[in-house]
Parts: sequence; structure tokens; C-alpha cells
Amino acid sequence: MSNPVVAIVGRPNVGKSTIFNRIAGERISIVEDTPGVTRDRIYAHSEWLGQHFDMIDTGGIEITNEPLISQIKEQAEIAIDEADVIVAVVSAQEGVTDADEQVAQILYRSKKPVILAVNKVDNPEVRAEIYDFYSLGLGDPMPVSGTHGIGTGDLLDKICQAFPEKKEEQLDSSIKFSFIGRPNVGKSSLVNAILGENRVIVSGIEGTTRDAIDTKFTTEDETEYTMIDTAGIRKRGKVYENTEKYSVMRAMRAIDRSDVVCVVLNAEEGIRDQDKHVAGYAHEAGRGVIIVVNKWDTLKKNNQTLQEFENLIRAEFQYLSYAPIVFVSAKTHQRLDTLPALIKKVDHNHQQRIPSSVLNDVLMDAIAHNPTPTENGKRLRVYYGTQVAVKPPTFVVFVNDPDLMHFSYERFLENQIRDAFDFTGTPLRIIERRRK
Ligand code: GDP
Ligand code: GDP
Repeated sequence: MSNPVVAIVGRPNVGKSTIFNRIAGERISIVEDTPGVTRDRIYAHSEWLGQHFDMIDTGGIEITNEPLISQIKEQAEIAIDEADVIVAVVSAQEGVTDADEQVAQILYRSKKPVILAVNKVDNPEVRAEIYDFYSLGLGDPMPVSGTHGIGTGDLLDKICQAFPEKKEEQLDSSIKFSFIGRPNVGKSSLVNAILGENRVIVSGIEGTTRDAIDTKFTTEDETEYTMIDTAGIRKRGKVYENTEKYSVMRAMRAIDRSDVVCVVLNAEEGIRDQDKHVAGYAHEAGRGVIIVVNKWDTLKKNNQTLQEFENLIRAEFQYLSYAPIVFVSAKTHQRLDTLPALIKKVDHNHQQRIPSSVLNDVLMDAIAHNPTPTENGKRLRVYYGTQVAVKPPTFVVFVNDPDLMHFSYERFLENQIRDAFDFTGTPLRIIERRRK
């Protein structure tokens, strides 16, 4: 279910982010118009010869108020905690430095495979420099040039060889969900409150390879759920766990492993930018989304409060218009018993399949009521549509010319599909194809 993780470590300026971007490269898709998505990436999916993996640039995780050398050490600790394979980057231009040795000292303590990449080997003359790096005791140095793309193929081969053997995937039909959100919104309180509900039977806590802890539980209707751990839920007391970049990175990993993501907001504090970063990623990843407004007990309410808060959320998270909103309190347990059923419903919608015949009735009806747009005298023709994927539901619509499909008309078709079928909580994807 989860991909192997590669972490890149090393002191500043050796070229970590250059190598990260080269490996992640064009392969990551960021929907440009999703507001609030962090531009400076430290986490990305990548693939090499059919092997998928996730990558963390630990250099992007700043631990403020710490001297540089302790920051570098913390970043190496993150790599050890989070990764299956660690790439230690050094620079041929500067040679072996104290900071490189400090990083190596920390990496010795890990049982994870470490690959030593000597960067900035831009031409063959520099190659001789790499032998000095044997002194770090991290094995054979591999020459690369991040800016020129030299040696990255060999590096990727070596990374992929070091991945742990794939374990037999166990059949697990439980609904996987997570609570994500910035620190202090109440994620761990929600976890504990839900597990403490009378109607919930906790069946097991599983440690996974990366120290994450997932909890399985069953509700009265015998539905099985797996709650995916995120940073902030089970704090291990490490300094870096309080940094924003780290918690965003952990949230991204949790989102990847979830079917349904509960974006937790704090009613007491309203909506902050960091809430939008995390929600933007959940949307982009195509997961089912529920907006959970926690600490509802803290507000002085009148009969407008709920509607006002909902309006605020709809205005700030326009791209999540499909996500249901629940107002809860981990403290008083208000409405918490409704959450598992809602997660189950969103999970169902997220993997719902609509038969083509029914879908086409809806599409043709929609077109009959709202004629397709024209451009330069040419009219968009929609021939038929079919659902090609679930999680999220994805539709291909065959047309005479995809360029004639305006954003607003696509939105109209999406709304018609949503009116006809219950897709609450799930994004929909619509792809136009030219009919040959
Ligand atoms: P980081 O701090 O380790 O993430 O380092 P960066 O990726 O930001 O790179 C630091 C500097 O080194 C930048 O000016 C890069 O352009 C440069 N750099 C990175 N890779 C190479 C390389 O392969 N050759 C050369 N000559 N410069 C590089
Ligand atoms: P996390 O960092 O998102 O996991 O947040 P925590 O679960 O640690 O909660 C942060 C603080 O908010 C703690 O002091 C909790 O007791 C408090 N808290 C959490 N949920 C609620 C709630 O529903 N109502 C109130 N009043 N306080 C809450």
C-alpha cells in the first residue's frame, strides 16, 4: 500500500534540492490553480523503471532557533526515522567537511541502507576527488552532477536495489482514514475520543515499517476502519515534530495512505494558511475529504454561528465544495458518533461506479437543457461518456474537439453528475478525449 521512502540528507549547499528536483522532475503534477499548495516542495512521488517511491528532501525541513549543525543533525534523524533508504549528499567541490563527518556519525547509528552521492562532479577531471570521501565510512562514493544530470541513473539504480523486499500485500478491506491539520487543532484528542466511544471496538494497533502506528477498529455495524497515524497524533517527543514543514510532510504521507482524509480545523482559531496547504494537498491527491471543525464547544453560539462558520469555510476552501462539514468536540464528544458513518459514506462515494448507460442518460439530458458552447462558429459536440476509474471517480467524455470544452461547461457537467448521483465527499475528474 505505501511506497518505499528515500530521504536526502547533507549539509547546506551540497546540492540536495537540485538532486531532489532532478529525480522528482517533471513527474510530479501540481495543479497550478489549487490555492495554498506549497511551492517549495520537500516531498514528492517518483518512479524509476517501474519502481514507485516517495522522496523527502530533509534539507527543506528547517528547525528554527537551532544552530546550523544541530539542524543538520535533526535532519539526519528525520531521514533515519522516515526513510527506507538514505542518500547522503556531499560536494566534490568542497571536499570532506566537518559537517559531512557529523552527518556520517549519525547515519552510522541507523540500520537503514545509506548511499553516498558525491555531487558537483561536472566533468571527468573532478572524478579523482571522490576517493577522499571513503573516509566518511559510508561505502563507495557515487559521483553525480545534479545540475548536469550526470550519474543520476546509476544513483537511482542503486537506490532501487536497496529498497526492502516487497512484503506480501495482505488483503485489507478496512476503510483507511486520517485526521490531518496543523498542530493543536485536536487531532490526537479526536483519535482518543473516537476510540473511547462505546460503540467502537479497537481490534489492534499495528506498527508499520516506518514507526507509524495505525489503529484498527470496528463499529456496531461491523465496518472495519484503519486510522492512519500522522505527526501530532502520537508524538514521540522529538524537536522536529513541532516544525511546520515536518508536520506537512507527515500529513502528505498520511494522505497518500488514506481513502478518506478528515481535514481538522480549530473552531476557536478559525482558518489559517497552514490549514489551506494541507487541505490543498488532500484535494490534489484525489482522496475523499471531510472537513471536521473541532473544539465546537469553545464558541459562544447563536442560531447563526454554524451557518456563518460554514460560509467562511466555503469561501476559503472553494475547491473543496464537495466536502461535507461536521462540527464536533473531542472534549464533549458532540456529534463524534456521526463521524464513522460519514467516513464510510464518503469512502463508498469515492469508489462508486456509474454504469455507462445511466451516465449517458444524465449527460444527454444535461446537454438538452443547456446547449454546448460554440467558438468561432464551431459547436462542441459531446458523443458519450464513460467512467474509467474510481478513487476518485474519473470520467472520460468523448467530444469532437477538446479545446471547445470550456471550464464553465465542464463544471456544469460535473454538477449535473453530482445532482444525479451522490458523490458527496469525493472529487471527480473529467477528461475530454477527441473521438477518432
Ligand atoms: P542544498 O542546500 O543541499 O539543497 O543545495 P542546492 O541544491 O540548493 O544547491 C546549492 C548550490 O549548488 C546551487 O547554487 C546549485 O546550483 C549548485 N549545484 C547543485 N548541484 C550542482 C552540480 O552538480 N554541479 C555544480 N557545479 N553546482 C551544483
Ligand atoms: P493535535 O496537536 O492536533 O493532536 O492537538 P491535541 O489533540 O493535542 O489538542 C490540543 C489541545 O486542544 C489540547 O490541550 C486539547 O485538550 C485541546 N482540545 C482538543 N480538542 C478539543 C475540543 O474539542 N474542545 C476543547 N475545548 N479543547 C480541545
